[in-house]
Parts: sequence; structure tokens; C-alpha cells
Amino acid sequence: MTNAPREQGFILRDKHDNARPLMQRDANSLSPSYTRSYGFVMDHGKGSTMWDVDGHEYLDFAAGIAVLSTGHAHPKVIEAITKQAQKYVHIGATDFYCPMQVELAERLQQITPINGADSPSDKRVYFGNSGTEAIEAALKLARYRENRNYIIGFYGSFHGRSYGALSVTASKYVQRANYPYIPGGVEHVPYPGKWGSERAKDDSYDWGDVAQYIEDFVLKRKLPAKEVAAILVEPIQGEGGYVVPRDDFFPNLRSLCDRHGILLIVDEIQSGVGRTGNWWAVENTGVKADIVCTAKGLGSGFPISAIIAHKDVMGQWIPGAHASTFGGNPVACAAALATLDVIEEEGLLAHAAALGNYGIGRLSEFMKSHPSMVRVDGRGLMIGIEFLTADGKPAAKFRDEVVDHAFLHGLVTLACGASTLRICPPLVIRHDEFERGLDIIERVISHCEEMYYDVQA
Ligand SMILES: *Cc1c(COP(=O)(O)O)cnc(C)c1O
Repeated sequence: MTNAPREQGFILRDKHDNARPLMQRDANSLSPSYTRSYGFVMDHGKGSTMWDVDGHEYLDFAAGIAVLSTGHAHPKVIEAITKQAQKYVHIGATDFYCPMQVELAERLQQITPINGADSPSDKRVYFGNSGTEAIEAALKLARYRENRNYIIGFYGSFHGRSYGALSVTASKYVQRANYPYIPGGVEHVPYPGKWGSERAKDDSYDWGDVAQYIEDFVLKRKLPAKEVAAILVEPIQGEGGYVVPRDDFFPNLRSLCDRHGILLIVDEIQSGVGRTGNWWAVENTGVKADIVCTAKGLGSGFPISAIIAHKDVMGQWIPGAHASTFGGNPVACAAALATLDVIEEEGLLAHAAALGNYGIGRLSEFMKSHPSMVRVDGRGLMIGIEFLTADGKPAAKFRDEVVDHAFLHGLVTLACGASTLRICPPLVIRHDEFERGLDIIERVISHCEEMYYDVQA
């Protein structure tokens, strides 16, 4: 292995006759706001494998940012999309009835635990097209209650790019620069990570009982509790670095919310739809939320999002209070229904849990002899590897080298957080494929440690 070759800041495979001109046209036609980190130019995919336009084959440990839950081109999903597209592709469900929406809403009622709901019919569902729209809907629903305007969010959180969602996001400075907050007020507090190593523990993160902190400092000194609409939280932080919270965090948040009539909104946009081995990652915490937001994995790549809430909570909305022209598009609903079917029929919840345990175990063992790695954490097929320099600082460049070298070896991965590599393959990934990907990651980490670790430190 050599140093990763770069061209105009992009890392490229040796053969790139088709990729390069396309990347050039992309640079000349698309917004510069996208953050591409390497020159993968998609041609086609099947299951957990993809091919670029120059014929290289890749194992997919990114799943289009945890979106392709059933992998690329799952025959059942393709069939459902095709069948619905042949009937009709749009109806405008804000004004007309759409059977596909009803079917998907009923499925979500069945599989989504909601605080205070005893049966599926106690819940209601609202559809949007993207993650950020789900968050907007949840925020608007929570703030619909009279005199409850404040939102409490967490440092490291990512909730989307539209103004409301962005106002609660506190993941990267660049996402917020030049965009002022929405009026009404958002208060950020630390997210209590469960660090695997003392070395990763920074004083600013080790906040102990954050729910108690919110009670003692935020609610007693800054925001009147009866004016707080909601606490918006990821069950496992995604973009923030695949951070699993302390075990007592969610139970304490739940009782804090109960004491003050604050709604607990969980952002399951990345962690939901089976990724962590349950339908929803919040189920791992033993706590039920008041509003669940889902998007990424729901449609296997078709744009669709939803929020699920108790009928008494969503029942506050009157006709016209919120809507979306494209939300719950029938083809997207068909894709989502097929996705949920595939997850059930192929036993992907148990599969994700088992593969995740295997992967976390294997990488934790590997970490013992690899000083660049400081934390292997996650649940199911949502696994993060965090890297630190020898003097204990986030090793962002080192992490980027690992991502680049993995790409050169035919493995597509993504970064997250300050210095974490995320592993979020399609839920259908086979054991042998998963193992092959981990082989590459381990080989690349060893190589990068030899090449760069001392230099980085
Ligand atoms: C991706 C993501 C969002 C935003 O979803 P978009 O579809 O990009 O708007 C919100 N929350 C979390 C946790 C996410 O991972």
C-alpha cells in the first residue's frame, strides 16, 4: 500500500477514465455545498455490493448513509415499486385518500411503541419525504400546544438542514454558520456518551446524569418547565459519532418529561427500521417516546419519512395545521411496506443484532493491540470506531486515511463525529461479506498505524 493518491482533493482509483470526467461535470454543475470525500461514482448495485463506472467492485458499509436497509435492488422492493408505479405514481394525499398510505400507517401503528398507547389504534401517523421534514413535523406538533415553545436538544446531535431541524442540530459548526436560529428558543445540553475507554473521556463530555442537569440548571434557572415543548434526542447519536448513551439516560429523561408535561421526541431517522436489532433503537433503552421520527431506512432508498405519536397528541392538529404535497407518495409507501415485509420475512432484526455483536466483539479484541483505536461502540449494524492520536486528541486525519484506504481496497465507509469511522451496511449483508469488510478495515488500520500513527501524534 502507498499513500492515497489525490487529485483536486479527491481520492481516485487507478482506473478512473469514466469517473473523472463525470466528477468534473459534477463540479461544474452542482452546488459546492456537498461534502464528497472520495471519487466513488456509482454505476449499479446488488445487495451489499456496488460497482463504479469504471468497473470496480465495492462492498457497501455505508448503505447510502444507513438508507438502503434491504440493500441495493432488493427484488421484493423493486417489484412493489414497479407494481405501484404502473397503477399511479401520485395522488396528493392531502386532498384525496390513498390506500398505500393507510396500509403503511397501520403497519407503523403496529411496530412502533408510543408512550401511553395501549393498542395500535391509540397511535397516529404523519408522512413526509425526508428526515428533516419528519423533525419539522415533530417540532410543530410539540409546539402546537399553547405556550410551549422551547426545545431542548443535545450537543453532537444532527436533525436535518431545514430551519427548525437545523436550530436543534449541534453537530458541526459549518452546518450552522450564517443561519440564525428559529425564534422561540432552543437550549443545548451535553449528550452523555458511554465511553469504552478512560482515554476517550473528556471532562466536557462526562456529564453524569444529564436529566438532573436539565432539571437543576436549565429548568430552574433558564427555561420555565411549563414553556418547554419537547426534548429532541437521538437514541444513538449518528452524525455526532455513533455515540451510545449511558444506560440511565433515557429512563431519567422519560421521568423528567413526565414530571413537567414535556414531550420526548426521538429522532430514529438513522437508528430506526431495524438497524440496531430492534425496529427502533429507543426500544433498547426500555423507554417509550411521545413522538418517533423515522426516514432514512424506511423506504430502502425511496424518499419517505414519518412521525408516529399518540392520537391524543397528534389529535390536537386540526385540518390544515400541517401537510405536504408529496408526503407519503404511493410509490414510496409501497417501497416502505416492502421494506418492512423483507425485514420481517428475512429475520433481519435478529440478523442485525447477531452480526453487530459479532462485529463489536471482533473489533474490540482487535482494538487491544491497536493504539489508534479508542472506542468501538454501537448496536446491531450501527457501529462506530473512534480514533485518537497518541496524545489523546481526535485523530480526524488518521480516520480520513482509514476511510480513503478502505475505498482503495473496495470497501465504502463513511466518517462521522470528530474522528469516528461508521459501519452501517445494508441489513441484508451476509456474514461472509460482513467479515470480508471487517478484514479490510483491520488491515487498513494496521497499515495506517504503521504509516501515520507516530506522525499524527
Ligand atoms: C440524516 C438525518 C436527519 C436528516 O435527514 P434528511 O433526510 O437528510 O433530511 C435527521 N436526523 C438524523 C439522526 C439523521 O441521521
